[in-house]
This record gives sequence, structure tokens and C-alpha cells, in this order.
Amino acid sequence: MIGAKLPLTASRPCGTCNACCVGFLTANIYGTPMISGRPCKFLDKNCSIYNFRPQLCKDYICEWKSNPAIPDRFKPNNSNVIMHIRVKEGYDYLQVLDRNKELHKELYDWIYRYHLQGIYENVIYNHYSNFPSNYLGNQIVLTKNEKFRIIATEKVN
Ligand code: SF4
Ligand code: SF4
Repeated sequence: MIGAKLPLTASRPCGTCNACCVGFLTANIYGTPMISGRPCKFLDKNCSIYNFRPQLCKDYICEWKSNPAIPDRFKPNNSNVIMHIRVKEGYDYLQVLDRNKELHKELYDWIYRYHLQGIYENVIYNHYSNFPSNYLGNQIVLTKNEKFRIIATEKVN
């Protein structure tokens, strides 16, 4: 899955969250593309092929699950945001993916505070709302000395 990483620990339970299956991420599941903004083809109420789900689904862990510093209330199914640590152009970034929702101000403020403290020095925010339907996302990057800025749009064919 794009944005996935394998952290050292995965201390929090997913519980009823299935945010990583509902359209935040892109992946290829047994030859079927999972596209940002659309749920996995195999998602019914829960995963319909759970016992046979591919290894990338078994391995996938979001940043909330592995990082206890992220408040409980930002669990992906509550916050409508999935976070990962990603490497881009040689830098580690906290990647923030939303799904057709405005980034909640409380979450924005929390990310910004963390950024200022240098805990997450670089942040990429993939924002999927407020764009024409053939544009799925904009990337907004927060680097050490900058405020959020838009760097790219992703056009869907
Ligand atoms: S988004 Fe995170 S917490 Fe939610 S199901 Fe996936 S790994 Fe678990
Ligand atoms: S195969 Fe199952 S676990 Fe994997 S993304 Fe689809 S619904 Fe989620």
C-alpha cells in the first residue's frame, strides 16, 4: 500500500476501524486496484476475504496504531485521517491522508504543534476535498521552515 511502513511496534488495536480499506490508500489487491477515494472491492461490512487477504493487508499498520503519541481521538475512523511516515526526496515525512473531509482544526493544530516541536519535522497532507471530481488530491507540504503549501495535484483518468 502506498504510504505503508513497518514500525517496530503495533500497540493499539484496530477494533472496528477499517479506514485502511475504505479509500484513503492505493494498493493492488489480487489484481484489483484500490484507488484513493474508493473502497476496496473486497470490503463488505468487514473484509470479505479476511482469512485470505493479501500479505500487504496483514502487514499494513498506520501511524496511529504504532505511535502512542498520537491521541486516541485521532484514530482513523474517528478523525477521517490516516497518517504514515514516508520517505520522499530523502526526507522523512508524516503523511496525512484525508477522505473527502476538511481537516479538522484540532487535528491541524496538533500536527502543527508537533511540527514546531520538531517531532514531525516534515508533513505532507494529501487533501481530497474541494476539487473538481477528476482531481483526487492535492499535496500540501509542511517543511521545517514553511507553512502548508500546495505542491501537486493528482488527475484521475
Ligand atoms: S487505519 Fe490503522 S487503526 Fe484503522 S484498521 Fe487500519 S491499521 Fe487499524
Ligand atoms: S482485502 Fe480486505 S483487508 Fe485488504 S484492503 Fe480489501 S477489505 Fe481491506
